Amino acid sequence: MRLSGFPGMLVSWTIPLGFNERSRCRRMMKADHTMQFRTLSAHGERSSPKGYNFDVSKAKVQQVASADFPTRWGQFRIHGFTTGTGNGAGKKEEAVALVMGDDLSGSPLVRIHSQCLTGDVFGSLRCDCRQQLEMALSMIAKQGRGVLVYEQQEGRGIGLMAKLQAYALQDSGLDTVEANEKLGFKADHREFQLPVEILKALGIKQVRLLSNNPDKVGALERAGIRVTERVPCEVAPSKYTEDYLKTKEEKLGHLFTKR
Ligand SMILES: [Zn+2]
Repeated sequence: MRLSGFPGMLVSWTIPLGFNERSRCRRMMKADHTMQFRTLSAHGERSSPKGYNFDVSKAKVQQVASADFPTRWGQFRIHGFTTGTGNGAGKKEEAVALVMGDDLSGSPLVRIHSQCLTGDVFGSLRCDCRQQLEMALSMIAKQGRGVLVYEQQEGRGIGLMAKLQAYALQDSGLDTVEANEKLGFKADHREFQLPVEILKALGIKQVRLLSNNPDKVGALERAGIRVTERVPCEVAPSKYTEDYLKTKEEKLGHLFTKR
């Protein structure tokens, strides 16, 4: 899927929430594999030859960038999304979507991955995040199409510093859930509104969700994205992740088969 955009141009659109609007959005995308947006030039001039911009009742994402994105796994497009205004009207969140393939109809493979600096960047063995990320990209590449939404929600939403504090508590014997709770956080602080709106923005109505977390399936379904299949994204436990994965299974309800 090619998203329009030129250097210096802010590309944005608001997300339709009504069924009719969504259908219309879908039809427009099907008719022309180029998504059309309300556009603003670098000088703030509006140009919207075929653009659309729907009213939004509660949620809104804005696309701020779109670019080619070659990776070790193949050719993606990378799209930057943001939500909220950051002016008190709600917390501003950002996420990127890596999209492979032009046709996202049917039930494309989708992974919603929460940022994990320690795992994704440093290769930490305290968790399975990086392996899950690589597995997801590799499975999407094998299919030739799919979407990975990467959310900035470090440590299941508690933030990087708190996550490091939680690691320290885990070193003294607490499990990942107990550590989060001791720091005053819920076991899982994530909201999945932004990824859902991103999927809708991409014209996706149903997905095959790469996840071990049934709560994610429920979150998507409740927000109007049908999950036709949950595809396991399982990493074999190592001596470092065994306890962590066990806690995820026992306390957070994650599903694993390779045990
Ligand atoms: Zn991690």
